[in-house]
Amino acid sequence: KLTLAIESSCDETSAAVLRGGREILSNIISTQIPVHQRFGGVVPEIASRKHIVNIMPVIDEALSEAGVKLQEIDQVAVTYGPGLVGALLVGVSAAKALAFSLGVPLIGVNHLEGHIFANFLASPELAPPFVALVVSGGHTALVRVDDYNHFRMLGQTRDDAAGEAFDKVARVLGLPYPGGPQIDKLAAEGRPVIDFPRALEEKGNYEFSFSGLKSAVLNYINSERMKGHELAKADIAASFQASVVEVLVHKAFEAVAAAGLSTLVLAGGVAANSGLEARLREEAARRRVQFYFPDRILCTDNAAMIGCRGYYQAQAGEVSDLYLNAVPGLGLSDR
Ligand code: ATP
Ligand code: MG
Ligand code: FE
Repeated sequence: KLTLAIESSCDETSAAVLRGGREILSNIISTQIPVHQRFGGVVPEIASRKHIVNIMPVIDEALSEAGVKLQEIDQVAVTYGPGLVGALLVGVSAAKALAFSLGVPLIGVNHLEGHIFANFLASPELAPPFVALVVSGGHTALVRVDDYNHFRMLGQTRDDAAGEAFDKVARVLGLPYPGGPQIDKLAAEGRPVIDFPRALEEKGNYEFSFSGLKSAVLNYINSERMKGHELAKADIAASFQASVVEVLVHKAFEAVAAAGLSTLVLAGGVAANSGLEARLREEAARRRVQFYFPDRILCTDNAAMIGCRGYYQAQAGEVSDLYLNAVPGLGLSDR
């Protein structure tokens, strides 16, 4: 089976061709980061317009790199949420038109489930059940994946997502958008000497909260500036990152143990963070938990992960009709 997958939820226009569920024939990603950088974040109207310009060329490139003709495609998978409504609609409309004209099934995919499924592409031997730690630009959650189509939400963030906190702290430090990779780099040059709060909450609670940490970092920066001190940016980055990482690591392994499982997978853009990956790997070895995470390119937004999720959905008969609409506020939930 050949799946054409389309992703346009935020600032990446992406198309991929998969053979079966896990073999990537192509995964073309056209990022708009340079376009939005001078505004310090994604401008929704500009993102939609760029998606419209990019979508067909990106799809054409995905087909030609895969060496596949459009007529050979067996099904079309597309992100329908969460994301920016105008951005999502570009992908959804393109996918509907293609599925309709080819007479093949259309599969609407939840972007966050896609992030989790990036792990199946990265690790051919990975199989459920496992616990997934989803840390992306807009979401932070722990999910128990029982099999390819049954998930249980264990907890999510009450306020800011981890990626959001990275981006806000970076902005205050004067680093360009997106801030996560910048903080990651800077943190490697600093020491985690500043004692920022760690919202660990009670045992057995898998909710997260990053707004308190974000405020603490902003207050620290302001008070240092008021005192006329030069900012120790690398130490601030390292201390902030250490605080985020410790909370994520602590809760993730607690969830794995409580679920009686022995596998943890990492998903979402923040999964590209080298500090997070290193700490999870270390703890996994210590606790004899199997730990999986995707390559950097599969961590952030891409269509291959959407194709993988769509493939398993279609296997279970979960296909969409042509009334499929964008759902900007779609979340992760039990299924
Ligand atoms: P969502 O998936 O929740 O809808 P999104 O698609 O915008 O949001 P992703 O593309 O999954 O988010 O991830 C982007 C986020 O990942 C940004 O917040 C970015 O700063 C963060 N990020 C990327 N690389 C790193 C890194 N090395 N360290 C920390 N954060 C990172
Ligand atoms: Mg992005
Ligand atoms: Fe994403």
